Amino acid sequence: MQSRLEQLRLALPEGVDALLTLRPDNRTYISGFTGSNAYVVVGREVAMLLTDFRYVEQATLECPNFVVSDYAPELTDSLNEALRAANIKALAFESDFVTVSQYEMLKTKLTVELVPTTGLVEKLRQTKDEGEILAMQKAAYIAEAALAEVLPLIKVGVSEKYIAMNLEFTLKRLGSERLPFDIIAASGPRSSLPHGRASERIITAGDFLTLDFGAVYNGYCCDMTRTFVVGADPTPEQIEVYGTVLEAQEAALAALLPGMLGRELDQVARAIITARGYGERFGHGLGHGVGRAVHEGPSGGSKSEDKYLPGMVITIEPGIYLPEWGGVRIEDMVLITEDGYQNFNSYAKQLTRIG
Ligand code: ZN
Ligand code: ZN
Repeated sequence: MQSRLEQLRLALPEGVDALLTLRPDNRTYISGFTGSNAYVVVGREVAMLLTDFRYVEQATLECPNFVVSDYAPELTDSLNEALRAANIKALAFESDFVTVSQYEMLKTKLTVELVPTTGLVEKLRQTKDEGEILAMQKAAYIAEAALAEVLPLIKVGVSEKYIAMNLEFTLKRLGSERLPFDIIAASGPRSSLPHGRASERIITAGDFLTLDFGAVYNGYCCDMTRTFVVGADPTPEQIEVYGTVLEAQEAALAALLPGMLGRELDQVARAIITARGYGERFGHGLGHGVGRAVHEGPSGGSKSEDKYLPGMVITIEPGIYLPEWGGVRIEDMVLITEDGYQNFNSYAKQLTRIG
């Protein structure tokens, strides 16, 4: 926490005395505070957290590097006083998070200059430390163990919702704090919906089934996708489409090196899918960063100029989606290392018939 604080201080733009962070993920990352209400201010010499009566004791325990104070009766009045006492004149805020109403309120109540900024804490969050990596390993372990447990329940005649419900229960029973996102369980023709949430659709023989899901451990997410064929042997077309996605996914993994740009890695996978004539049917980016949020930096699509660096965690998830026929996506989450990557996932990727 102390080093995060120091890094943020170094990242404060010139002319700015402090950052007010309100985005819950950023607030927790910088201060350790896990409650729902607090104003966290980090300046070059100050670190303060203002919260209400419900959270004062908790914040004092969770945030040893911060001066914690109770505000009363009005948070913004107390904040203004605290800023004045700390001699903060120019206060940065998260302009991509603060609502127009919040901004109007801050502008009315505070006597400091408000400076819109984006990405100050998000940028720091992209590089994970050992504790964060361990949490993500545990989350990935829970996700794979849950999938293995639920697989025998998947067969012709059950609904997507039944599968998703059992997967959710098992994820939580194995230690996932919550779902990082609603489970995607898309079968048959619905598997061509890249984000098809589980529906009442009943699985029929020969369906593709795409399961995209994750777990959360110590506040950190994992995100993985596997596609199966249910109740019949795969057809030649299924084998062809699946094989193309797998080849693209494995080629991207093999090419991954620190220093690459997001778009360069995307291109490795996209070139393979395009060469087989499915370029138009791979309509999303190759992946995204993961951490406290299931989607965070670095970005990973065909336009991404983000540079991949050791310590970053990204997904690699090419897909092919053919309307009214079905689709395939395969997704692993990996840690970028000095000489390549370390895969958080070890679940088999060969096309498998289940049920
Ligand atoms: Zn996913
Ligand atoms: Zn993903």
